[in-house]
Amino acid sequence: MNSKVDAPELALAKAAFDAARAGFEIYSNLTTEERVAELSKLKETILTNRSMIIERVMKDVGKCRTDALIAEILGTVDWINWLEKNAARLLRPEKVKTPITLLGKQSLLLHEPLGVVLIICPWNYPFHNAITGIVAAIATGNAVVYKPSEHAPCTGLIEKVLACSPVLQGLVQVVYGDGRLGAALIDEQPAKVFFTGSGSTGSKIMAQASKDLIPVELELGGKDPMIVFADAPVSRSVAGALWGAFTNAGQSCSAVERLLVQDTLHDAFVDELVKEAGKIVVCPDDSGDADIGRMTVGFQRDKVIEHVQQALDSGARLRFGQVPTRDSLIVQPIILDQVTPQMLVWKDETFGPVLPVMKFSSEAQAIREANATSYGLCASVFTSDRERGLRVARAMDVGGVSINNVNMSEGNPGLPFGGAKKSGFGKLRGPEGLLGFTRSKAVLIDKATPKIEANWYPYTQGKFSRFEHFINALYRPRRFQLLAIAWHGFRLESFSQKPRE
Ligand code: NAD
Repeated sequence: MNSKVDAPELALAKAAFDAARAGFEIYSNLTTEERVAELSKLKETILTNRSMIIERVMKDVGKCRTDALIAEILGTVDWINWLEKNAARLLRPEKVKTPITLLGKQSLLLHEPLGVVLIICPWNYPFHNAITGIVAAIATGNAVVYKPSEHAPCTGLIEKVLACSPVLQGLVQVVYGDGRLGAALIDEQPAKVFFTGSGSTGSKIMAQASKDLIPVELELGGKDPMIVFADAPVSRSVAGALWGAFTNAGQSCSAVERLLVQDTLHDAFVDELVKEAGKIVVCPDDSGDADIGRMTVGFQRDKVIEHVQQALDSGARLRFGQVPTRDSLIVQPIILDQVTPQMLVWKDETFGPVLPVMKFSSEAQAIREANATSYGLCASVFTSDRERGLRVARAMDVGGVSINNVNMSEGNPGLPFGGAKKSGFGKLRGPEGLLGFTRSKAVLIDKATPKIEANWYPYTQGKFSRFEHFINALYRPRRFQLLAIAWHGFRLESFSQKPRE
């Protein structure tokens, strides 16, 4: 046992894993197609009950209605839809080419489930984050123990939608609690920990899991840059920056947290940002007509206050909004210019509706500034020059780049999502994300014959020299190479007729 946790958490963790392990056994014979059919029922349930889900998420985390519809519902359904179309194909046993050195044999690659995986989530997208991981784990044949954040448990919501399928109910256990429960769950030896959250928690989880060599996947925070070149379409770039920075009240791991604008465009661009920001509607409990809801938790609002205040004290200019007050979670969007790289608002993840702006003069400088962070989740670049867009995308030290868009590489469920550097490792979604919930098993099939292999005992000087000739024939280019390979291969083959006397 690695963690120091109390008895109630231990009991809860054990019960969840016992139930999930039982579910794993019961349903281990289901084919991928049968599992995906259960996920189709879930997709239908989500679509049918989307108003209920949206209401619940809005109530628990305070996001605006359209953010809830697009991120929590559309993003989730889109991923299940992708699984319906691709999971069976990707998880099918694959025939793999067998090289000439293994003539006469066949090679097969199997994608097998890991067992019971533990999914631990943060509070910012409580429905989407939960379902995205759960369905990938289920499609690949696993069972799941899922722990939501204590700050957005949405108690009963995930169970309610899973109730559309007794199979899913049997395979997924939801448990509620804070980090102590998270630690107790890791003590239950999951086959893998799939964690989404902050870097500091990710590092604790990795340390704990390492003691039992449990694999972990970490989807962590970001400080995403957006680079706007002087040739970019201004109104689109302004609208993209505002949405990218303020969607979900900025509480998105891949929010635009650093805006770099080319110096010749900078002043006019910031004026335009400020003008357009004035039209943004901030209001929780809306009916689809607000752009931003409330922030979810007080400690995150306090971080916004700390970052903005420190920036202002260090010479940044408040171009829009105000320093939030501690008595409300409703925070107006904030735009700061004259920001420097030393300011917290430029260095650390703010995770709130704050857009700091800096200028750059050259492409090289923009790339340098954008990469000058320990994070590496996503980035965006706006330019009319497609080649430059691609060049900058390649130079970004991140997991995903949107060109002339923001947060959109993650909009395609066929593309992998996941960070570089301290934004984590491993991928969610796309073929890589799906296979991340599997263990690949290599199978080599040979004939049932009395013959032995040339590389088996006995080792003799004659065999050694024959192997040397064979290696030379294979890897030292020469005339009549194929003939040489065949000849030395044939001579080697003669050893396989001779088990030790
Ligand atoms: P957090 O790290 O505080 O908590 C995340 C989860 O970990 C919660 O469920 C919490 O109870 C649990 N936890 C805490 N301590 C634990 C421990 N010792 N062992 C096991 N579990 C433990 O993060 P948060 O404040 O909920 O979320 C905000 C962070 O999540 C931000 O940094 C954000 O960028 C990041 N995030 C990343 C992604 C992504 O996909 N990369 C998506 C959403 C959010």
